[in-house]
Amino acid sequence: MAKDTVTPMMAQYLEIKSGYPDALLFYRMGDFYELFFDDAVAAAEALDIALTKRGKHLGEDIPMCGVPVHSAENYLLTLIRKGFRVAVGEQMESPEEAKKRGSKSVVARDVVRLVTPGTLTEESLLDARRHNYLAAFAVVRDDAALAWVDISTGAFHVMPMATVRLGPELARLAPSELLIPDEIERDYAETVSDFGISLTPLSRGSFDSTSATDRLCALFKIASLDAFGTFTRAEIAAMGAIVDYLDITQKGKLPLLRKPLREASDRTVQIDAATRRNLELTHALSGGRAGSLLSAIDRTVTPGGARLLERRLSSPSRDITTINDRLAAVDAMVADRPTAKSLREALRRVPDLDRALSRLAIDRAGPRDLAAIRNGLTQAEAITAQLSTADLPPLMAQATGALTGHDDLLSLLDAALVAEPPLLTRDGGFIAPGFDTELDESRQLRDEGRGVIAAMQTEYADLTGIPSIKIKHNNVLGYFIEVTATHADKMLSEPLNERFKHRQTTANQLRFTTPELSEMETRILNAGGRALDIEKRLYDRLKSEILARSSDLTDTARALSELDLATALADLSIAENWCRPKITDDRALRITGGRHPVVEQSLRRDGTPFIANDADLSGDPSSIWLLTGPNMAGKSTFLRQTALITLLAQMGSHVPAESAEIGTISQLFSRVGASDDLARGRSTFMVEMVETAAILNQADDRALVILDEIGRGTATYDGLSIAWATLEHLHEVNRSRALFATHYHEMTQLAGKLPCVENATVAVREHDGDVIFLHEVIRGAADRSYGVQVARLAGLPDSVVARAREVLDALEKGDREGGQKPKAIIDDLPLFAAAPPAPVAAPAPAASPALDLLDQVNPDDLTPRDALDMLYKLKAAS
Ligand code: ADP
Repeated sequence: MAKDTVTPMMAQYLEIKSGYPDALLFYRMGDFYELFFDDAVAAAEALDIALTKRGKHLGEDIPMCGVPVHSAENYLLTLIRKGFRVAVGEQMESPEEAKKRGSKSVVARDVVRLVTPGTLTEESLLDARRHNYLAAFAVVRDDAALAWVDISTGAFHVMPMATVRLGPELARLAPSELLIPDEIERDYAETVSDFGISLTPLSRGSFDSTSATDRLCALFKIASLDAFGTFTRAEIAAMGAIVDYLDITQKGKLPLLRKPLREASDRTVQIDAATRRNLELTHALSGGRAGSLLSAIDRTVTPGGARLLERRLSSPSRDITTINDRLAAVDAMVADRPTAKSLREALRRVPDLDRALSRLAIDRAGPRDLAAIRNGLTQAEAITAQLSTADLPPLMAQATGALTGHDDLLSLLDAALVAEPPLLTRDGGFIAPGFDTELDESRQLRDEGRGVIAAMQTEYADLTGIPSIKIKHNNVLGYFIEVTATHADKMLSEPLNERFKHRQTTANQLRFTTPELSEMETRILNAGGRALDIEKRLYDRLKSEILARSSDLTDTARALSELDLATALADLSIAENWCRPKITDDRALRITGGRHPVVEQSLRRDGTPFIANDADLSGDPSSIWLLTGPNMAGKSTFLRQTALITLLAQMGSHVPAESAEIGTISQLFSRVGASDDLARGRSTFMVEMVETAAILNQADDRALVILDEIGRGTATYDGLSIAWATLEHLHEVNRSRALFATHYHEMTQLAGKLPCVENATVAVREHDGDVIFLHEVIRGAADRSYGVQVARLAGLPDSVVARAREVLDALEKGDREGGQKPKAIIDDLPLFAAAPPAPVAAPAPAASPALDLLDQVNPDDLTPRDALDMLYKLKAAS
């Protein structure tokens, strides 16, 4: 079919769509957003809605699906979560306006917004307790930088960095979308793919640092960027790309951005992606938040407080003054419980000020956002009153100071708004009576009109002698008079038919109108329309009053979050019996009675007590502990708790211990031997070695290194040698504080050779051949590994356990007596006999597969665990 058969509407659709090839186009048609062609197919599948057809294009059916405008947000959310981007195309004029332009004109439409994962602002699309960052990565010659913004709160940050830091920083910030110059997209696609971030390549022009400077100056209405500090070209390019992208996606309605804050990577503890994952700081290894450190410690009561907690935990400080200031705030709230309690009560009623503000700035707000500002400021006032008498440490005093100064705005909002405004501006009804005389008059007229109509009904009942006569209202007819069909004759004949004009007959009713009813209706409509117009005008005024103070309001929001965090951490400290750590500038790391906050909470649910342990890596005499002991004894738990206590202390929290002295750490590394890392499904030994290499290359003498069973992903002697050399390197070259858990008992000899290495083990007791875990970390080396006992606890068949003991005894005897070859020992062992013995003793085959297997075994190469694995094989082969 010829091209000229394209309908004007389809031509318009195709033209708009051509501007957004990578997005689904929501094309507004009346009460629906329609999708066509491939968009329709993809969306119908993603949303599980019906795919239909609408007309033909070039001879082919056009696939179509649609979503109602009133419930579009939910559909949007699903699409964004599934990785789509959505261009929202609205009608820019009414059908009447289009007709005026010409009888064939299609209603003008345009994309008003491009919805992407990093640019969401709707409450329903966001997790209130988490940031939603849009990040941009720029490289200018040898310099790189990352900028990030949360448009739902206005937070804007930038940081110069080496390109290799991209992974760790993405792990820290967890942005939902990353902008990257298209020419380097491929180089970083793999790094980014690890984090499930949506990658958006932009052309070189978006990252051009010269036009970026202009964009930033225009946005912040400044003459020169120097006003905000000195930035590298890469930083400017990254910030510029963000502003450019916001311009593209928000169609010119730029969100309220705070001036960019430069972050220096040397002020926070450097934690790489593997360490974050492994320590389960904000996410559990299983994926969700439950089971993470964050969820175990989060007692904040405001969304802003929750986001601040996550930021602090993701970037603990290295600055002693900063840490001590934060600790002092927690101390104050621990010491003054009544104040803390009433503060928390007030904070509970604080809404999400940041997000309400940012919605107001990009015109996506409603009356409830105005009310959120009012309610927040009301609580801020109440909190100021509570705190004014308390003796506050600097951080809290400063926060309290930022709560005030909004009296005028608050009185305005108080007077203007009703207690519980409706969601939408267009419905009206959010301005309180008594605030605006004109509005009150219009409303009165409107309401009186309704009263007059009620009176009319009585009058008409008398006049017609039909008591059941009703005046009703619907959207099609407006106001009308209704009688049942039984009165039809009376109503349709003289004299009544002169006054009552027949409008409609339904199955059982007749509907009429009268001139005075129509007139009244017009008056009501006019008054109602005017009232609505006035409300909209007042909305705009309140909005601009709020935005004019946005910077002070942001400070207030920030102060409320700070107070929330301090009281939440105090609450946690009291409930969990934590202590204030002492922060020092040396290499101390001395913990008494330390506990793992997450394991302790989960054991408590089962009624099991957690055994507290001491750690001392202060270098006097040792800064490295080599931890041996059986599996399941609690080695990993001890390692991790030491790291977590250090992080908690440096983020400014109390810690789960009796006492803790922490000389600030600069970097934290935590690695787990390959076989624990199977969940990630990679060539595990290689990953383990790459990660170990990264530590040995980067860790400095202020780093804390946690290595759990490094080297176990390969054969015994290889693994032992690698673990051995790694420990020596950490001791001699990196000189970091470290905890090193291993099952290679041979390594315990290192403690005698290296002055700063000390042996420690997790105590177990043997009882009737069973092993009892005491979970107590003591100095000294483990005597043996109890693998067989652990296997028994795990429910291995008795016959296998008994046989394993035999093999082990024989091997150990061989070892003790020295010299005897493992093969000879195994040859001497009687053959495996399952208990109860097989009823019929079959003649032994000449060659058994089990014996063949045994022949290949070199017991010297076997760890107890390997021996156990071998037993399985033997059993399977026998
Ligand atoms: P390992 O690393 O030695 O194999 P884990 O650290 O994984 O052992 O601990 C095994 C289990 O022992 C944990 O899941 C926990 O239930 C328990 N556990 C560990 N440490 C303690 C402790 N200090 N107090 C009580 N139970 C503990």
